[in-house]
Amino acid sequence: MAIQVSFGGQDRREKQSFAVGIDLGTTNSLVAYVGPDGQPHVISGPDGAMVPSVIAFDAAGQVESVGHPANSALLVHPERTIYSVKRMMGRSAAEIVHELGMLPFQVHTAQGSAAVRIEVAGQKLTPPELSAHVLRELKRRAEVFLGHAVEKAVVTVPAYFNDAQRQATKDAGRLAGLDVLRIVNEPTAAALAYGLDKKPEGRIVVYDLGGGTFDVSILRMHEGLTEVLATGGDTHLGGDDFDRLLVGVVAAQVAAVGISVQGDAEKLQRLRKACIDLKIALSDAEQATVQAELVAGQRIELSFARADFETLIAPLVEKTLEPCRRALRDAGLVAAELDEVLLVGGSTRIPLVRRRVQELFGKAPRGDIDPDQVVALGAAVQADIMTTGRRDMLLLDVTPLSLGMETVGDVVVKIINRNSAIPASATEEFTTSVDNQTGVVVHVLQGDRELVKDCRSLAKFVIPIEPLPAGLARVAVTFLIDANGILHVTAKDVRTGREKTIEVKPSYGLTDDEVVRMLEDAFDHAEEDLTYRMFLDAKGEADSILEATRRALAGPAGTRLDPEEREEIEGAIAGLNAAIRTQQADPVRKAQRRLNDATWRLAELSLAEALNTAVHDPQLAHVLAQAPDPAAVKPDHHGQRIK
Ligand code: ADP
Ligand code: MG
Repeated sequence: MAIQVSFGGQDRREKQSFAVGIDLGTTNSLVAYVGPDGQPHVISGPDGAMVPSVIAFDAAGQVESVGHPANSALLVHPERTIYSVKRMMGRSAAEIVHELGMLPFQVHTAQGSAAVRIEVAGQKLTPPELSAHVLRELKRRAEVFLGHAVEKAVVTVPAYFNDAQRQATKDAGRLAGLDVLRIVNEPTAAALAYGLDKKPEGRIVVYDLGGGTFDVSILRMHEGLTEVLATGGDTHLGGDDFDRLLVGVVAAQVAAVGISVQGDAEKLQRLRKACIDLKIALSDAEQATVQAELVAGQRIELSFARADFETLIAPLVEKTLEPCRRALRDAGLVAAELDEVLLVGGSTRIPLVRRRVQELFGKAPRGDIDPDQVVALGAAVQADIMTTGRRDMLLLDVTPLSLGMETVGDVVVKIINRNSAIPASATEEFTTSVDNQTGVVVHVLQGDRELVKDCRSLAKFVIPIEPLPAGLARVAVTFLIDANGILHVTAKDVRTGREKTIEVKPSYGLTDDEVVRMLEDAFDHAEEDLTYRMFLDAKGEADSILEATRRALAGPAGTRLDPEEREEIEGAIAGLNAAIRTQQADPVRKAQRRLNDATWRLAELSLAEALNTAVHDPQLAHVLAQAPDPAAVKPDHHGQRIK
């Protein structure tokens, strides 16, 4: 055995003390706990269980309020009221450039390091510092309710969150005075809450439509282990968009009675609030009426029919279905193979959403779950499992991120893939790149990115080897994650049998200052990587569009195109491929737009085709879904060269 690295940041020796579960949402956050009855419950404050993830500051830069009162402050002081912090957590400047236009507050991306800072009331704060205010409020509520200190928590994050985003979430917890025992995927938490009475088994799709984001995940639960088979979604689609559409229509109605909200931020906010009430009422009634006071002293009644609301939002609801189909394909499944459909997020209370999801998956969603609470409840169950060991249930443990090793070219070779159930073990064999090397560097990395610089370095050591011509030495590297989540790395010179041992201290015991410094460090080098990262991001997107286009062209929709349309698309594909070779983000984005423009009819035809297929021909849908995805084929790394 060689290296001991703490894995997942959790210390199982601390089983005695109490922990809560927290759903730290983009729009709303909740805290839950497992009571003496062994059941999870959400903790309510005087204004309910949901705490809007909104922080209001006063002019002096002090936090004035968090939650509902802060939400109301948005009306009065939008310039010092912060929301949507989750979108910025753990992101570099390059990653959030496209978000900036949508957020009303000042976001700084320079400052010597590329750490994102939000300017509010004369201070520049990092996303974890801001999120910490929401967590602190939840912690306080839990303490008031439970009557004792709460110092530990399990916090949920979207399944697609990367290491930096997870780490930022942990840092936020630490800044709020919470020891984050575990970061759990939101869909996993949902499944865990649902699986309370029986051991969860089978394939589950979790459809999560919240305020600003849509996430779909397909999970496989087996013998207490949860594996994320596929994720997808749309980071800019949710209840806020429904609100915006409704506001548009209702604004026209009130304009007809002589009230203009155009250009009047306060009236617009009041109207928005009324429309949200209307929307929520329409989830329960065919027709709803709400009172609004847009002009002081002048109350007006707003009425809307559910059918009209549904017509309004139908295209957006349809937009959520494509990521679902893609997730099914990525998971290699057809709808009929799913065992459960779980709905998460406030917007899944909308009857049209439920209907369309049910039609797509051919199965009624579970009705016994509160979509607002299920994630927090699952987090509480996980917290309970980790602190009391009370539940007769295996720990849900998979490796959250891939573990790999550096090879020549600063590239990471994955040895244990993310989502592997633990205990897990894998061995890869490597060889040398230079003649007569007397040692090789074993650099252990965590993360799912391709390049060393994008992954977290866990350990680095040298193993002496017998000098041989390049390519002849054989070094076997074994990664083993034991049942306690501890990673053991062994490197062995196959010819001599020699092994190397090293011990690495896990990064425990950080002070707040260190956390902040670490945050800075993590982003210090981001600036120099900025352009390349931007290119990689653009390329990633371009690759999937190219792949989707290729598939669509080869499919039945492709045969229905005119020759000119096809020619145009092929030209755009060639253009995009050429742009990718420039290794620059801008040309790729530009060429991608051209391809998008050229393919809109193809997309339409494919969508019609897919809908037809899914609805009328389960047999064919099965065949389509079984088509191998070239991206899913794991490359063979044997014989990779290392330094
Ligand atoms: P997030 O996970 O993004 O924090 P939530 O799951 O709390 O968000 O969802 C918030 C969204 O759900 C908001 O847009 C809110 O208006 C919407 N919502 C809440 N309740 C209902 C309802 N009964 N009908 C329709 N939409 C609702
Ligand atoms: Mg949520």
